[in-house]
Amino acid sequence: MGTGFTLVEKWIEKNGGTLSQDEVNGMVFVYGDEAYRIEQKAGGDLDVVQTAEKVVVFRNNKHIQDEYTCRICGEQYKNMIDTIRCCMHHDE
Ligand SMILES: [Zn+2]
Repeated sequence: MGTGFTLVEKWIEKNGGTLSQDEVNGMVFVYGDEAYRIEQKAGGDLDVVQTAEKVVVFRNNKHIQDEYTCRICGEQYKNMIDTIRCCMHHDE
């Protein structure tokens, strides 16, 4: 399991309960140039699946404001490194 998987799983832990099944199913997560989807399994559990596509992210003004906010827990930081490391395993 790569870092992307781990981050999406943590996101689900933190935020999954507040969203409807339909919202979660349509969601795509981007980590670097990789994309992940959430799929609902037959039993109702959520599965994280890496998509085959390579991703190119175009940044805009909104994106820059979001840079210092952890996408998983919403904590705000003063620099990007602290933001990226928040909620990520430090041993990687
Ligand atoms: Zn965080």
